Amino acid sequence: MAVLAIAIGSIVAAVDTPMPTTQLRARVTVFDGGEVWLKEIDLPTRGTGEIDVAIEAGAVCGSDLHTVLGHRSAPPEVALGHEGVGRVVDIDEGATDQRGRPLSAGDRVVFALFSACGTCDRCRDGLEMKCRTLFKYGHESIEKAPHASGTLASHVRLLPGVPVLTIPDGLTAAQVVSAGCSVATAAAMVRTLGDRADGRTLVFGAGAVGAYCAAILATLGSEVYVSDPSPTRLAVAEKLGARAYTGSEEPFPAVLEASGNANAFVNALETADIGGMVVAAGSVSPGSTTVTFDPSLAVTRRLTLVGIHNYSADDFVWAVDWLGEHAASLELEQLLSPPQPLDDIESAFDLMETGEHLRVLVVPNDTRG
Ligand SMILES: [Zn+2]
Ligand SMILES: [Zn+2]
Repeated sequence: MAVLAIAIGSIVAAVDTPMPTTQLRARVTVFDGGEVWLKEIDLPTRGTGEIDVAIEAGAVCGSDLHTVLGHRSAPPEVALGHEGVGRVVDIDEGATDQRGRPLSAGDRVVFALFSACGTCDRCRDGLEMKCRTLFKYGHESIEKAPHASGTLASHVRLLPGVPVLTIPDGLTAAQVVSAGCSVATAAAMVRTLGDRADGRTLVFGAGAVGAYCAAILATLGSEVYVSDPSPTRLAVAEKLGARAYTGSEEPFPAVLEASGNANAFVNALETADIGGMVVAAGSVSPGSTTVTFDPSLAVTRRLTLVGIHNYSADDFVWAVDWLGEHAASLELEQLLSPPQPLDDIESAFDLMETGEHLRVLVVPNDTRG
């Protein structure tokens, strides 16, 4: 593992701007040239509206693994990780969170994986995850501001357009760490179902997003079935309140595709009932997979097909509310590995690759910086 120290940017203090008391040094997981390693970077002065967060825990998501395995393109020295929980260490006076509540140093927070402008046409249409000037955490080079843009790190710097929420201390890091990716995505999928969410539902895929979909649907009163080839994953979904799909069930009024498998996308269309809704979120890599299907599957049964990629700020708030109510009683930590040290991030990725855990929990194991 190569650990290098570099300085990015420089401090320029205007006459009427107080000098920062400390310069923040962050340890950040980067991926470049086929290697994943930890790099130390000195951050420039925090800008107005930005929030520096000391990471309590991050989680390796399937998309981080895809990047490291070369399944998706990445810029040089990409900062990895977009699921995290931590404590505010530096913030503007009078700042507020996504609910408008006061936010200050020491507060425990979770945060969305994107920064959006809030004013462009897409943001105005509730498509802030597709903002014209979108910044996505866990997908950008450390050369690009805000530099500390991954959660598999000691610190992350949140841009002004990132939805941030305080989270109660009573919940463990493992119970809330996935708020900003898999839980919020599952919330976006379930919320799309509207009043179909408490009827019979079928979820394809029991990875993290599928498992959270099943858990959320079960808490809403749905009779939820899950399809996944892995008995281990199915067992987790069943503990969260789902039943194993056998293939002999009646068609479903609502079907969620969270596996990313192209054939499951067709299966989702096939298993939806007349007038039903299919919400698909699994297939996120353009060109990586194709499938042929009979369009009459959708047409003659008058299906509604909705694609969901990431989530809105409202979905994120809904997801964090749901975690507050259910994370402890559902023992959501069962979706994650035991904590792995940030200093051995390569092993954390090796563990993720085994598929043994839906997510691998990573904790900074010292308090430097
Ligand atoms: Zn993710
Ligand atoms: Zn925008």
